Amino acid sequence: MKYIDAHCHLQFDAYETDRDQIIEQMKYEDIHGIVVGVDLESSKKAIELAKKHEHLYATVGMHPCYVDEGEFTDEYKTLAEDENVVAIGECGLDFFRQEDSKLQREVFIQQVELAIELDKALMIHSRPSKGTQDAYHEVIDILTEYKKEHRDKLRGNIHFFVGGDKERNALNDLGFTVSVTGVITFTDDYNDMVTGAKHDMLLGETDSPYVAPKPHRGERNSALNVVHVYKKIADLWGIDENEARETLNNNTKRIFGL
Ligand SMILES: [Zn+2]
Repeated sequence: MKYIDAHCHLQFDAYETDRDQIIEQMKYEDIHGIVVGVDLESSKKAIELAKKHEHLYATVGMHPCYVDEGEFTDEYKTLAEDENVVAIGECGLDFFRQEDSKLQREVFIQQVELAIELDKALMIHSRPSKGTQDAYHEVIDILTEYKKEHRDKLRGNIHFFVGGDKERNALNDLGFTVSVTGVITFTDDYNDMVTGAKHDMLLGETDSPYVAPKPHRGERNSALNVVHVYKKIADLWGIDENEARETLNNNTKRIFGL
């Protein structure tokens, strides 16, 4: 593989008219992608895509912003057992858009336990309330508790990471990588966090269809744009693009067992 987008939503309606073309183009450019579920329906669709295409992988999970739209039932578990499923999630805590933290915590913990049971990685969405790192600190507390007993069975990635060095280091210590999006191509806010990151603990992602990187800002994003995220990481690390590519690909392969 030449690139891998560690987090995208190719199954979303945003790609209703040209999904097949994008997937073909990804294949042509040798770009792989992890297609992330956010609820039952999108998890099913992610698996369908991964079954059909060698270069796509699926995750199954319930996004913290959807926890009040249904329960995390055994149906998720059945889906998650599929061999195309490389992680549970996206799951986690979102204190930016959601107020009810109790239910979010419960549903997150259910998914942490499922990942341990199935020995699969976690794809975590953690978004703190404005001006704080609260959601990261709670996620770190929960993972720390489970790490004690379950060691290497507990692993994964914190996607769309916007925390600081302290949070990144704490997550790394727990065996979790962090991934950055196209946001790093149009703001300098995360330069230091990326520059200071351990090279074996960072991943590149698009979170497409959201947040298109430069030079595609304002457009619908797609996994094809992971190229721009990789390039920016290579710039910030001050290393050759090919070397950065190899490192980032190896990290994603390792953490998700691809
Ligand atoms: Zn996402």
